[in-house]
Amino acid sequence: MHKDSSIELFERAQKVSPGGVHSPVRAFRGVGGVPRFIKRSEGPFLYDVDDNRYVDFCLSWGPLLFGHRDPETEEAVRAALSRGWSYGAAEPYSLELCELIQQSIPWAEKIRLVSSGTEAVMSAIRVARAATGRHKILKFDGCYHGHSDSMLVRAGSGLAEASSPDSAGVPPATAQDTLVAPLDDELYIEKLFLTYASQIAAVIIEPLPANYGLLIQRTEFLQKIRDLCTKYHSLLIFDEVISGFRVGFGGMAEKTGIQPDLVTYGKLMGGGFPLAAYAGKKELMDLVAPVGPVYQAGTLSANPVAVAAGLTTLKKLLRDNPYTELTRRTTKFADYLEKHAQEKGIELCVVREASIFWVAFRRDRAIHSIKDIPSGQKERYAKLFHGLLRRGVYLSPSGFEVSFISTAHSDTLLDEVCQKFCEALDEL
Ligand SMILES: *Cc1c(COP(=O)(O)O)cnc(C)c1O
Repeated sequence: MHKDSSIELFERAQKVSPGGVHSPVRAFRGVGGVPRFIKRSEGPFLYDVDDNRYVDFCLSWGPLLFGHRDPETEEAVRAALSRGWSYGAAEPYSLELCELIQQSIPWAEKIRLVSSGTEAVMSAIRVARAATGRHKILKFDGCYHGHSDSMLVRAGSGLAEASSPDSAGVPPATAQDTLVAPLDDELYIEKLFLTYASQIAAVIIEPLPANYGLLIQRTEFLQKIRDLCTKYHSLLIFDEVISGFRVGFGGMAEKTGIQPDLVTYGKLMGGGFPLAAYAGKKELMDLVAPVGPVYQAGTLSANPVAVAAGLTTLKKLLRDNPYTELTRRTTKFADYLEKHAQEKGIELCVVREASIFWVAFRRDRAIHSIKDIPSGQKERYAKLFHGLLRRGVYLSPSGFEVSFISTAHSDTLLDEVCQKFCEALDEL
């Protein structure tokens, strides 16, 4: 048997960190087996500690639209390092980044930089509560908004039933201020608004829910939410931490023409470095300290190295406009896999939007809320995942996580992967 150093490293890691990891899905619980310990990466490839090469479709969960170690980003980061890597003071680098976003995204009138998507969402919610003087936040079952207390909440069993914590350590009292609705259901949110009209500070949604499979929403549903928010004077927060700069520079707001009051960005925005942001209408953002009464701060916020990576990434997106090409590659790839599955009588579809895709084990792509997700998803995906991993292909290690295609994934490489995919599917 060939050497597998990941086994030994994973054993050691479990002794020093919970589950041996620093973010749960990395532990491979969703697919079983031992996680690969990665030593280095380049372009579309990851290399594990035994020098096995994998074509990477997880891509750090979204930040790497240009693949690993994009040379332009690397150069900008090196240049930033040679100037200094943290000042804790006003500096011109983040100014350039924010001006670029402000010029390109009309609903981002003012921007505050933070270090993670969780922080961005938590802060946007605080602003919404301060602006409206209301406490309740309406979120959707099937969306993820980071791990702040008020977002780790699940629905009660009926409309009238109070929400409950979705994680140990979240106080029930906190959970009660979060209302949870199913996706793709206009009537349900109408009823919630009728019941809680004057209490809802904001509705938060991933306009392209991509954290529980890929649950593409109808534009009319998003429009309905926008209309209800306007009617009841609640704010609309688009959590575009995955979709921002990914489905198009201005994310889903640009794509649908539906504008949020507040928006959050992360992942791709930092090009692989810890950088995120919340933004929105000027009068809302001016509620934030030091101008307004909403406190929010960060020792390493707008870290100049992360900002250099983010700025390079965003400039490159504007310059190269890779969206059409990435969508073409993703569509071709996904269509090919679906065709093969169909020929072999395998119930499988590849839900896709721009360069995001998700393999689901049912025949058609009409999956708009959690209840549409097939019941054998976890088990079947786990088998496919390991069949591919053995063949040097690394999908996101969970049947409920999406995968990505980068500009470093050439047509030739994708054709090779398609063959391996077909082999792995035939083994199912
Ligand atoms: C990843 C993600 C977050 C959390 O971002 P972190 O940087 O992991 O804290 C929040 N919202 C959405 C939509 C995400 O995809």
